Amino acid sequence: MATFFGHPRGLATLFFTEMWERFGFYGVRAILIYYMTAKVAQGGLGFSTAQSGIIYGLFLAMVYLLSLPGGWLADNILGQRKAVLYGGIIIAIGYYSMALPGIASFYSALVLVTLGTGLLKPNVSTIVGGLYSENDPRRDSGFSIFYMGINTGALIAPLIIGTVGEKFNYRYGLALAGVGMTAGLIQYTLGAKYLEGAGMPPPPNPKARRQAVIGAAVILAAVAIVAGLSAGHILQVSAEGLSDVLGAMLTVITVAVFGGLLLSSGWTPVERKRLAAIFVLFLASAMFWSAFEQAGSTLSLFAQRNTRDVLMGYHFPASWFQTLNSLFLVIFAPIFAALWIKLGRREPSMTIKFSLGLLFVGLGYAVLIPVAGGKAVSPMWLTLTYLFHTIGELCLSPVGLSAMTKLAPQRIAALIMGVWFLSISVGEFIGGRVASLYEQFPLPLIFGVVAVFSIACALILVLFNGPMKKLTAGVK
Ligand code: GLN
Repeated sequence: MATFFGHPRGLATLFFTEMWERFGFYGVRAILIYYMTAKVAQGGLGFSTAQSGIIYGLFLAMVYLLSLPGGWLADNILGQRKAVLYGGIIIAIGYYSMALPGIASFYSALVLVTLGTGLLKPNVSTIVGGLYSENDPRRDSGFSIFYMGINTGALIAPLIIGTVGEKFNYRYGLALAGVGMTAGLIQYTLGAKYLEGAGMPPPPNPKARRQAVIGAAVILAAVAIVAGLSAGHILQVSAEGLSDVLGAMLTVITVAVFGGLLLSSGWTPVERKRLAAIFVLFLASAMFWSAFEQAGSTLSLFAQRNTRDVLMGYHFPASWFQTLNSLFLVIFAPIFAALWIKLGRREPSMTIKFSLGLLFVGLGYAVLIPVAGGKAVSPMWLTLTYLFHTIGELCLSPVGLSAMTKLAPQRIAALIMGVWFLSISVGEFIGGRVASLYEQFPLPLIFGVVAVFSIACALILVLFNGPMKKLTAGVK
């Protein structure tokens, strides 16, 4: 049977599906803030920097938040395979609409892309897992190959979508994201036969169906009410107002999830300790992503407004900085994997790795503080920032994902994976609010505060290392 680097052939199908999806996603993320802040005469939307930062955070926070219902829908009704297909179609329509002129199509596009990505992103990874039997030794390396697909898409996106967007027309760039997703969908449809049994729908469950209909009705009603009232100018929905609502929602969800988990009496003592450990990792993760994910907002604005954009005489688009994360990741991921193996018994605990993640993301901001007042600083500074951020990501992100799967009581494994996405959502939300302050405070202050908070959290986590070892006893 045909294989893909010694892996099931279906992995190739999923690799390219996710590569194209991420191509669109990271391409749009690279120019989104520029498109929103550019004047209308220059082909932009003419939003203020404050509003743009908030919308950026709102959009990304919703993408990650919607992966919770997206995962649920696939598990309970659609099956992952259909969820990825429908998600991809909605995303492609979203990107094409984003390329249309006008604010209404822009906002509708954001809603479509968040819905579609919520359906596609968590489920494509689940199908990867489904290609392997429980103890297939190729499983981890399958996920590493898949992660390369993510980063291949993310690496080329700014070079193509960013260049077209910034040098020619933002909307052509956004349309290219739709073209990429379309290519991914064609490939996915043609390659679906290689997925064998993975991602098929679960047996029909009338109760889940009812719940889904109610959930969908609530979401649609909320969107319709907000859209209707704002179209009739009865309700002045501002980006900031929506963002406040989301902030309140995230707080309520977080309190409800952890309150429910920690107070519930159904756990063994070991499970309860592990849930407490998950809570600590949740907070650290949210903090990490709030700093890291300003790559496409605060740091992108710094790239455009304060960084020299000439390389050997060529004026390169500021969005090119967005390739650095993926480039460094592709280079360093194998090195880190080897390093952990080489360290053997001296390999740092997951808490220390989280702490290192926060330390490096903080250092990435700290190096910018001395130059933040400058008008045309060397591109080396941001390069160094993204290098530190990638090192931080490599310490924290894979460890976080695997910690969630290992610490979760088996019967709520999917919910705990959702908790990880929730932490990213919270991080995106906070990061967007920070980015919206870009013009209100001096840059050295903004970078300084993010650096101090991240590094302080890193130090606090070191103190937690001992207690966390007790809480996670028995977990490798
Ligand atoms: N870069 C990875 C992806 O796009 C991880 C991002 C994240 O977990 N926030 O899948």
